[in-house]
Amino acid sequence: MKKKDSPVRPEAIKEDSHDTALRPRLLKEFVGQKTMKDNLSVFISAAKERSDSLDHLFLIGPAGLGKTTMAQVVANELETGFIQTTAPALEKPKDLVGFLTNLKKGDVFFIDEIHSLKPAIEELLYIAMEDYGIDWVVGQGPMARTIRIAIKPFTLVGATTKAGVVSSPLISRFGITCRFSFYEQEDLEAIVRRSAGLLNVKIDKDAASLLARSSRGTPRVVNQLLKRMRDFAQYAGEPGITLPVVKDGLSRLEIDELGLEKQDREILKIIIERYKGGPVGAETLAISIGESVETLEDYYEPFLIQAGLIQRTPRGRTVTNFAYGHLGLKPVNNEKTLFENE
Ligand code: ADP
Repeated sequence: MKKKDSPVRPEAIKEDSHDTALRPRLLKEFVGQKTMKDNLSVFISAAKERSDSLDHLFLIGPAGLGKTTMAQVVANELETGFIQTTAPALEKPKDLVGFLTNLKKGDVFFIDEIHSLKPAIEELLYIAMEDYGIDWVVGQGPMARTIRIAIKPFTLVGATTKAGVVSSPLISRFGITCRFSFYEQEDLEAIVRRSAGLLNVKIDKDAASLLARSSRGTPRVVNQLLKRMRDFAQYAGEPGITLPVVKDGLSRLEIDELGLEKQDREILKIIIERYKGGPVGAETLAISIGESVETLEDYYEPFLIQAGLIQRTPRGRTVTNFAYGHLGLKPVNNEKTLFENE
């Protein structure tokens, strides 16, 4: 299904060239996620002291929270090479073998969306992760035999938005697991101020604060909104980003005070109006809003759940009373309605 354009959709700006400039390079530049950083800093310095490769690292969290950035930061801190791919790009075993045989000692090999690896490739990866080897079949028919090719010790960094669908044999081969949480207001403010400095644009304190509050707890979104506000400020002939520029800009982008986009509100409205508040299954809901299930589950839902607007139940998604309140609607108490109807 064709995806609609969203002003701040993470994948829409993944390739933005300015994005690279905004990426923190070292742990001390990486804002927030303090416990994760403290632990990683210990593991990295211990591995460096032993001249070992760092244990394989599993990064879990919604899109735009800094998984790719952290993988690069780890490579920079280890002072090793960084090689990057995504699971859907690994179509045949030889695609993976190509990467693995070119790795240098200690390199960080990053596989994004690791939940979508093909089974044959995943099998290959197990041996590579555990024994730094590849089992490769040569010859055909009765002459076929498997040879083990040695590869250099490396660190696999696997990232996923869907930890629940990663197989347990793969999970068990990661020595370190890090879970990203949505960012606090003060962290997002720090990120937006840092980015404004790098982009050489002036932003007032109250303007930064409102932007941080409106960015779904997500660094990629706050950076994207900052760039749009820079456009609005420039268009209005303002020398910098002020609070009125941000207020006006957010309303033009149809982003409300909770940081919800039009499509977020549409999701809530559809669950309420078409499905009586839920439960409704993810696939049905995705079709109703004209998005793919992936976009619904990876982008919209995590924040709607975090903000306390929807809940995931075994029977599907339901909206909360808070969602009714936010949309200015009156909650319908299903049980009471049934009772009253009798
Ligand atoms: P993910 O891989 O989880 O989708 P990315 O690592 O691509 O997310 O992060 C998106 C953007 O957000 C990066 O380009 C970076 O500029 C910014 N970013 C992410 N995490 C942080 C952070 N902790 N501090 C500062 N900027 C961050």
